[in-house]
Amino acid sequence: MGKWYSGVVHSHTTRSDGKFTPDELIRKAEAKNLDFIILTDHNQFCESIPESSKMLVIPGTELTKHGGHTNIWGVQYPIDNFDCDTYEEWERKIAMAKEKGALICINHPHCSNCTWRWPLEPEKADCVELWNSPQHVDNMKCTVWWQKELASGKKITGVGGSDYHRDYLVTDFLDNPVTYVYAEECTQEAIFAGIKAGHTTIAPHVGKTMIEITCGDSIIGDTVKLTDDTKIKVKVSSLKKGHTLKVIAANRVIFEHKADKTAPYSVELPVADTNFVSAQVEYDCSAPFKAVYSLAAKKVLHEAPSEIPPFIYAQTSAIYFE
Ligand SMILES: [Zn+2]
Ligand SMILES: [Zn+2]
Repeated sequence: MGKWYSGVVHSHTTRSDGKFTPDELIRKAEAKNLDFIILTDHNQFCESIPESSKMLVIPGTELTKHGGHTNIWGVQYPIDNFDCDTYEEWERKIAMAKEKGALICINHPHCSNCTWRWPLEPEKADCVELWNSPQHVDNMKCTVWWQKELASGKKITGVGGSDYHRDYLVTDFLDNPVTYVYAEECTQEAIFAGIKAGHTTIAPHVGKTMIEITCGDSIIGDTVKLTDDTKIKVKVSSLKKGHTLKVIAANRVIFEHKADKTAPYSVELPVADTNFVSAQVEYDCSAPFKAVYSLAAKKVLHEAPSEIPPFIYAQTSAIYFE
């Protein structure tokens, strides 16, 4: 019997441009009650893995190149070096890493600052980082892209990476967002098997709004044979007042519910089409937030977004029907 384990899949330490040493970061992560963390410093091998009696620590690296950023998880020395200027070299590097047992994640492909410039072929990786760092407009673009890809018949597992570097003022972004992985046990092997099977759902923090989709005994990531009376159950651990749950099938919203009070929520829905179903919780940004956001975007990206769409507060990977 498995369960959902919470993890930070994208983090930086003093080995690259993070503020905390690997040991300090692990102590912070332990205090958050995370089940696992993956260390992914830019173009650095994870020379040593800090010890923890409370959580699983997985080595990794973020191959950080002009063509795009790629997380390589699970192996201390997965590639020969960090020279990688062409897509062909990237393909060679990830093949080498996979050979050694690593998992590959395409990071923040629609980031305005560090966009993916090579051919974007998610099927070459094990998953894609749909949600990078505290929520922002680029992630919304990424989810729109992802759902189009799924509607075309691809199966792409999504993860959320906090891309943690440091705290700002009173904020604490280490587990914002956090990826939940359904696994038999909290070992690297089992967590990786869960990610490979697509058993992932992304929450804004540990213990906050988390969405599950089930269809009989099948869960997110599984492929289910469609029958005349196929039904799914969508369960939200806590749906906040004013937040909207949307269930999406084949790129269409098939169900929408806005909460009038904060409480757990669940709904059963029929599934009619072969394709995918995913779910997300959205909220409208407040006017003051939009004003501050536009100012910050101008400073960082040199242009403010023309409009700020509703932001995603939690989202699942997909369950598939055939
Ligand atoms: Zn990056
Ligand atoms: Zn990063």
